Amino acid sequence: MNSTGSNSANAKGGPAVLTDFDDTAAVENVAELLLNRFADPSWQDVRRRFRDGEFTLKEYQEIAFNSIHASRSDMAEYVRDNAHLRPYFGELWDYCREWDVPMAVVSAGLDFYVEALIEGNGLTQVPVYAVDTDFTPAGISYEYRFVRPGMERMGNSKGLIVDQFREQGHYIIYIGDGMSDFEAAERADLVFAHRSLAEECARTGIPFRHFEDFRDVLAAVQDYVNIGTGTTEGRA
Ligand SMILES: [Mg+2]
Repeated sequence: MNSTGSNSANAKGGPAVLTDFDDTAAVENVAELLLNRFADPSWQDVRRRFRDGEFTLKEYQEIAFNSIHASRSDMAEYVRDNAHLRPYFGELWDYCREWDVPMAVVSAGLDFYVEALIEGNGLTQVPVYAVDTDFTPAGISYEYRFVRPGMERMGNSKGLIVDQFREQGHYIIYIGDGMSDFEAAERADLVFAHRSLAEECARTGIPFRHFEDFRDVLAAVQDYVNIGTGTTEGRA
């Protein structure tokens, strides 16, 4: 791997792969899968108010999940039975481990359902940056460890997590679909986007590749490992 470059395209730390979870690493929106099955039907009204700008994503998620009385294990089982990792996620993880490329899931969602799907697929060591939950007799409690000072109402910042990897000298490959991914995509060297994130990147002029599954991401990481440099397209 090239360690002599001075720009982000051949960063001294090599590539790091950071991927969103709902609708990206997972085929489904797993949060909504759980809310449809276990939450009070009023959660859809809360989602509408979030989309109208009345609630932040953090507030919407907490209000909606607070109406659930199912156990953590029942929800984890439901996730394992009904959700799916997108093709080539496992192959990408195996390759990254083999070549010491950091790979992590970066989600605005809740840790327990992210981990249920990943571990249910036998991938027990994938790092997960998500909202930490604790199931207590009084309900679910939430902890946010990646909050920008003064931005507590927004919950975790994906951009903050990308910054931590950038500070280690990595060439950041980011994959996502939603508006909460935008601040991460803005900071990444190579972006794979679909859905709202692709529209927002196109609207704001941030270069991206269209994401379908992790095969193209795997090819990009292999290119970096084999050639010793990343593409410069994300930082044109
Ligand atoms: Mg998503």
